[in-house]
Amino acid sequence: MITERVRKHAEHLAGASELPAFVYDLDALASDAAGIRQALTVPGAPEIFYAAKANPDAPILRTIAPHVDGIEVASGGELQHIRQILPDARLAFGGPGKTDDELRLALELGVERIHVESPHELSRLAALAREHDRQVDILLRVNLAGDRTGVALAMSGPFGMDPDLIEDCRDTLTDNPHVRLRGIHAHLASGLDAEAMVNQSREILEWARPWLAKADVTDPEINLGGGMAVDYADPAHRFDWTGYARQVAALAQPGEKLRIEPGRAVSVYAGWYVTEVLDVKKAHGQWYAVLRGGTMHIRTPVTKQHNHPFVVLPRGGSGPAVDDQPVTLVGQLCTPKDVFARQVPTDHLAIGDLVAFSMAGAYAWNISHHDFLMHPKPGHHYLSDD
Ligand SMILES: *Cc1c(COP(=O)(O)O)cnc(C)c1O
Repeated sequence: MITERVRKHAEHLAGASELPAFVYDLDALASDAAGIRQALTVPGAPEIFYAAKANPDAPILRTIAPHVDGIEVASGGELQHIRQILPDARLAFGGPGKTDDELRLALELGVERIHVESPHELSRLAALAREHDRQVDILLRVNLAGDRTGVALAMSGPFGMDPDLIEDCRDTLTDNPHVRLRGIHAHLASGLDAEAMVNQSREILEWARPWLAKADVTDPEINLGGGMAVDYADPAHRFDWTGYARQVAALAQPGEKLRIEPGRAVSVYAGWYVTEVLDVKKAHGQWYAVLRGGTMHIRTPVTKQHNHPFVVLPRGGSGPAVDDQPVTLVGQLCTPKDVFARQVPTDHLAIGDLVAFSMAGAYAWNISHHDFLMHPKPGHHYLSDD
């Protein structure tokens, strides 16, 4: 649950000037990314682009980059940021509501694929490409209905085009040779285990093949999206990359190029949010531990409505403590929603003890509302033996 490197580092952090802190283990991240890459070496397995929005910190990106084929960006801001940090990276640009300025930026900075989200976006891109006399390679993003029960997040709503709407793109493509259709993109849900992901991938492939054949696309690319599950209730239970890669590779047909773009499952395990217990008390029959910091730094447990996994690093304090009782871990915000974990059984938790929340390497700091209540910002430590 915590690497030796992070535990040792955390044990030297103390007080308001050093806690809370995000501590990242870059060697663990490299090893996670290399493991995923290794699974994807079976012939026919998809290429992998890392979805930068999961964690776009420069040291994180530099650590992941050697183990992936490219980076998926979801805004002009991410596009500029990644180009600066990884000038040569292959990029795919997705996301709803791309402005003309963002599309122009994509033409200027060199994006390998633009994932087009609507017929109107396609027309605007075609006009810009013509104006700049540039050829752009695109995938059309499809939004298949399907049954997504059991997933963490179904991308229902305005993401991509449903099978009726996407038909509107055919004429625009025929009339605009500056825009070259290379294939289909689909990111339909997140939180799928390997078996569910294989089934979803099959569904996408079966829909995409005849559509692309009718559009005379040869050697099509099919981007199967991200959303590989991580298990916050059991951090040791990881996505079965080997099984997924093997089964999807078996679905691939000659000439096709498959691609995936996970974010969370790549970077989540390499980050910890380390803080300390400020107070311990009982209220209306329940024990609470108030921690320095809060969900304004790591919004993950609020958005996912889960108990965030953690380990306690005892400091042997002699003040108030709770023993063998369920404890609710909260932060410093003046709202009952500032909860990291509810009613978690603990042996012993005392004022001054360190608490290290694991699985804080994705959708943690960068999705949080940092300025709420104006508490000090956490430090960010990127550890590596290299
Ligand atoms: C967010 C996103 C991803 C990555 O999803 P994860 O759940 O982090 O794997 C991939 N593709 C698109 C289009 C996304 O919006």
